[in-house]
Amino acid sequence: MSAGSVSDSQSLLDRGRKALMANYRPAPIVLERGEGAVVHDREGRRYLDMVAGVAVSSLGHNHPRLREALQERIGKVLHTSNLYYNEPAIRLAGRLVELTSADRVFFCQSGAEAIEAALKLARRYQHDQGNGRSGFVTALQSFHGRTFGAITATGQEKYHQGFEPLVPGFRYVPYGDLEALGQTVDETTAAVMLEPIQGEGGVLVPPPGYLQAVRELCDQRGALLILDEVQTGIGRTGRFLAAEHEGVVADITTLAKGMAGGLPLGAMLAREQVAQALVPGTHASTFGGNPVCCALGLAVVETVTAPGFMDRVVEQGERIAVRLQRWCERFPVCVEGRGRGLLRGVELSAELPGFVDRAREQGVLSNVIGGRVIRLAPPLTITEAELDEGLDGLERAIEACLAG
Ligand SMILES: *Cc1c(COP(=O)(O)O)cnc(C)c1O
Repeated sequence: MSAGSVSDSQSLLDRGRKALMANYRPAPIVLERGEGAVVHDREGRRYLDMVAGVAVSSLGHNHPRLREALQERIGKVLHTSNLYYNEPAIRLAGRLVELTSADRVFFCQSGAEAIEAALKLARRYQHDQGNGRSGFVTALQSFHGRTFGAITATGQEKYHQGFEPLVPGFRYVPYGDLEALGQTVDETTAAVMLEPIQGEGGVLVPPPGYLQAVRELCDQRGALLILDEVQTGIGRTGRFLAAEHEGVVADITTLAKGMAGGLPLGAMLAREQVAQALVPGTHASTFGGNPVCCALGLAVVETVTAPGFMDRVVEQGERIAVRLQRWCERFPVCVEGRGRGLLRGVELSAELPGFVDRAREQGVLSNVIGGRVIRLAPPLTITEAELDEGLDGLERAIEACLAG
């Protein structure tokens, strides 16, 4: 395959800057193809992918299982709607139910849509109980998506700015603070919603025992517990759901990002008693349960739950943790490495201007949250050699930033 010319790419970028909404600040490269944890741009430049499209390309690029699943769908129906069943959706829902404590699955396309479904289900369930519970308690520094319900649930001012009025009924508590939660959850609370690890908030892992205590508090007070596993689910942290690390079972769980390895697929899972509230007519999604997306979802779920796969995620995660620790000892700007499995972050004491650009110059795709946390979420399939290459490149980028 011949690489595109530089002037072609330049004119493409110029057209993109004009025609696409300016709500993003994309790097000036046009990605074209990939293999494993490596991607290439149109001009044939090679990058080690330490972001995986923000925890989405869970099996890396061009994984044989995903190619097979895609090929298997060619020549069949691309869409069935929810007026009819399709086999991949049934099979994937069945696997999700087997692999978790949930009993039923609702499919959609994105994380925000899964969050909307979860909020609606929680309210509707409490409404049907006739108990007047309609409020939600979520965490400060959380991130749940960009729809009105999801930005309201998101406990960060910057996502609300200029979009008011927000959805009524939300209250926020500091993440990891059990006392604050105890003072806030009351007889009006429909559900508490939390991420098991705050992803966009800066890869924040709650104190041990926190989620377990939240579960107990919800049970005592009669509130549902929604865990947003859009970023942490499907093996990202070394368990199928991150909640498993703490032995916590949610009433409602949301999934998306890595579930279909790159195609848009979200899901909301719930236990039977709660799920019963979504009777026909209460909620829907035209594209929900798309057979192509679900076929890829099935391939991802089978791959990550194969024997040994998640042990490797844990090992590779430890490999990153060791390196982050070394950075913290070597570079005063690196103050703390944290995370679980292959969702990792290193907190910076000050912004490293140009870090992402410097990393790209070193051949590594990286991500910085709010200027202060370098987030690592490579493909779950990344090899040791690839991981070392990525970490070496990031280290050179830090050095380059510090050298000015
Ligand atoms: C990314 C993310 C979302 C939103 O997902 P979209 O697919 O962008 O709508 C929701 N919750 C968490 C925890 C996320 O990381």
